[in-house]
Amino acid sequence: MARPTTTRRTRFAAVGGALLAASTLAVGALGAGPAAASPAAASPAAASLAGEATAGHGATHPRADHVVLIALDGLDIDYLDGAAMPHLKALANHGGISESTGVMTSITNPSWSSIATGAWPASHGNAAYWYDPVGGVAVGQQRDLAVPTIAQAVRDQGGTVLSSQWFIVQNHGVAFGDAAGLYTQPGGDCARRADDVIAVLEGRPVVSAGVPVQMQGIPDLMAVYCDKLDALGHADGQDAPGMPAAIAEVDAQIGRIVQATKDAGIFGRTAFVVTGDHGMETFTQGLRDELLAAISATGYQPEMLNPGQAPQPGTDAVIVVGGVGSLHLVGDAAGDPDAAAIIEAAVAAMPGISEVYDEAEQSAMHMSAKYGELVIEPVEGWSLGAAPSDGVSGVHGTSRTARTALVLAGAGVRPHEVASSPRHVDIAPTVAALLGIDAPSGAEGRVLSEVFATP
Ligand SMILES: [Zn+2]
Repeated sequence: MARPTTTRRTRFAAVGGALLAASTLAVGALGAGPAAASPAAASPAAASLAGEATAGHGATHPRADHVVLIALDGLDIDYLDGAAMPHLKALANHGGISESTGVMTSITNPSWSSIATGAWPASHGNAAYWYDPVGGVAVGQQRDLAVPTIAQAVRDQGGTVLSSQWFIVQNHGVAFGDAAGLYTQPGGDCARRADDVIAVLEGRPVVSAGVPVQMQGIPDLMAVYCDKLDALGHADGQDAPGMPAAIAEVDAQIGRIVQATKDAGIFGRTAFVVTGDHGMETFTQGLRDELLAAISATGYQPEMLNPGQAPQPGTDAVIVVGGVGSLHLVGDAAGDPDAAAIIEAAVAAMPGISEVYDEAEQSAMHMSAKYGELVIEPVEGWSLGAAPSDGVSGVHGTSRTARTALVLAGAGVRPHEVASSPRHVDIAPTVAALLGIDAPSGAEGRVLSEVFATP
């Protein structure tokens, strides 16, 4: 949609004092909901992914001086069951926890891209596990971003940002060695990444690309990224024996960061956003051979490619698997709608397949146009690739794992208020609204203003 004309705000620079009255929430922004007429209403998850939105652009008065974003890769919403994550739940007592809908495919980089930009994958262009017909090779994950991030929005409007390993904004608002928009990549466990945020809160320098950097004051936006839950989930599945301890360890870091904001005297002026990129499912079975056989039986020659691989001569259908399978017609079959329809019918009839999304259905879910004619989704427990070598592994990428937890809490957020059907694309506009700045210019989500405290 067209970006509304706005005056560049000076909320951070505090030039001239008064904040301009803002045309904040577009009329209808709160009316966002599932598009009942969507052709992608094949599954409930797909239906929610196809929800319509009106972007809530526009600066308003700041509700928080600082926002802390805690980005937890592979945060399945089931991990919050029972007594798990007490620090997160204590934090949420200052706000609320809700289930948030992500994007398709529910893979790490496209998902964080939508969180960082407020834009759908169709707009930000970050896709994962697809076939590039120009380069002639399968592609895994990459950092393409066609629209600005929340980190860029903060910087462009005079603010400062720290990202401890939230890699998706690297060189999109933060960079190594930039004291006003600092990116650090300490590696290690979640505690080590939290250390950088805590150091900055304590006014100490942090090491960025090997060089100590002293930030001036406490940044407006501080992000920290942990991928411990994702790594363990992939290795051993959602119910990995080590998962309770990993969840407790990640939760302890949330507690440390919250405490550090109290020690720094900014807790009451800081909003907290804790979310994941996608969930996790356990799988024990592989459909690879059956899938290839079903397509071969139609007379078209399929081939499964790993990132970096090129198809053999004579291949008609390339499949690149990343949770789902992106099927691209190539060679003599390229662009042939009959071939797509025949293969779709054959694959959809297979046991173990839950959905086959054609291009219209992908478009309704705001998926990147980089995916192929068909996107194939297996049922839970199955991979489109091979069975796991050790019997049990974890996977994500389907519409089922396009959901995670979202906690909004702290300054500007009304206690015990829960966001209404939040989505990844709503997070960047909401963070911007909390800080009183314009949303990133490509944002398509809405401000989750129902959780805001009355000014
Ligand atoms: Zn993952």
